[in-house]
Amino acid sequence: MSASETIHVPPREGRAVTVPEGGVVRIVDRDGGQVADMWAFNAHDVREHLSAMHTRAGVDRLFPLVGEAFLTTRRRPILIFERDDTPAIHDMLIAPCDPERYEGLGVEGWHASCEENLLRTMADLGHGDIWVPQSLNLFMNIPVGADTELGWEPAQTRAGDSVTFRAAMEAIVVVSACPQDIVPINNCDPTAIDIELPAS
Ligand SMILES: [Zn+2]
Repeated sequence: MSASETIHVPPREGRAVTVPEGGVVRIVDRDGGQVADMWAFNAHDVREHLSAMHTRAGVDRLFPLVGEAFLTTRRRPILIFERDDTPAIHDMLIAPCDPERYEGLGVEGWHASCEENLLRTMADLGHGDIWVPQSLNLFMNIPVGADTELGWEPAQTRAGDSVTFRAAMEAIVVVSACPQDIVPINNCDPTAIDIELPAS
């Protein structure tokens, strides 16, 4: 399937697309080994958004399987997981990185963050006062040990790997090419992400 439109998300930045109900959106790890933080909001009422905790309750697992739905804060499907052309390692437990995270890691001064990317992108669309939901951390490799200990491992995606969703309602989808370069989730070398809107 060829993309009818591609939005390039530069390294360490964020971008948004509005996907119509029934429309398809694909998130592509262009160079491999890069985490994409993603959010989805009801385009008609951004107070309703993709919710990790409601999704986990809906699918009885930590991350949906292909064919299953991501649910909103109102327990309604917002995105259907259509395809997973990756090693199928994703995370929905870890908070998006934010200025405090980098301060805690010893960074002095400003550092780009997924939270700032989300807030700026939504403000540009006229939504300047949103709550920051748990992100859907595509390609992020956070193994959960038998004792529930969490690991912070490099993303296992190869160049061109992608995940594909179909919108169950008109949705604003925001993607941040995660700027994390201290913890090795992006191999300490953040790269770009593409958002594709296939002709479907
Ligand atoms: Zn991040």
